[in-house]
Amino acid sequence: MTNKYIYFIGNWKMFGKYKTLKSLKKVITFVKKFKKNKFRLIYCPPSTLIHPMSEIFKKTSIDIGGQNCHHSQNYGAYTGQINSKMLKDAGAKYVILGHSENRLLGEKDELINLKVKSCIKSGLKVIFCIGETFKQKKKKNTKKVINNQIKKGLKKIKNKRNILIAYEPVWAIGSGITPKETELFDIIKYIKNRLKNVKVLYGGSVNPKNIQNLRRIENVDGFLIGGASQDSKNLIDIIKKTYN
Ligand code: PEP
Repeated sequence: MTNKYIYFIGNWKMFGKYKTLKSLKKVITFVKKFKKNKFRLIYCPPSTLIHPMSEIFKKTSIDIGGQNCHHSQNYGAYTGQINSKMLKDAGAKYVILGHSENRLLGEKDELINLKVKSCIKSGLKVIFCIGETFKQKKKKNTKKVINNQIKKGLKKIKNKRNILIAYEPVWAIGSGITPKETELFDIIKYIKNRLKNVKVLYGGSVNPKNIQNLRRIENVDGFLIGGASQDSKNLIDIIKKTYN
């Protein structure tokens, strides 16, 4: 997979302060020098840092994404919410939707579907997260679960050009455990057969130690990286090791 165009997407979750942004200088210097292969780096910080981060990355190839948004395209009385237009206005080009940490808070496929539609209308690229829980995996329901998430979450969305799929088994997120390479290959193949011409990324405990195994999976188009992306050195290591 190392000759391919690879996505590295950093999900900072609810971490990061204004002064954390200083650590990104290392990443900018690295990205400018590291021309070994084509890759796309996208940071999804908390909303408070989208605009300052977009200023820092202005003259670089690094893009920014939001981590979620409200489903309404209109402005309105929704305290604490931001919509897709506001994300775009702040400097985001991408948005993560359907993350299991939000599904756990009660976000349903139908609501995620409205968000996907709103974000596409606003011109954002959607990183659409799907994945099974450990219980569902044990019951051998992985494909059934992700098929259902795709069917409902992407309902009535004909043009999938602006959608990237992130396969993130819930049990792999933040646990230090990753699926077997053969298992991952098989599930990514299933997703690619189900949705033609979409990029499929893997997410769940990607780190500098396991990236050399994960990068060998031929059909993976990149990685959604949570914890490890919050440390610039780790993220640089992951990118370097993908190409070594
Ligand atoms: C994530 O939150 O999308 C994620 C993959 O987290 P982690 O890398 O920490 O498992």
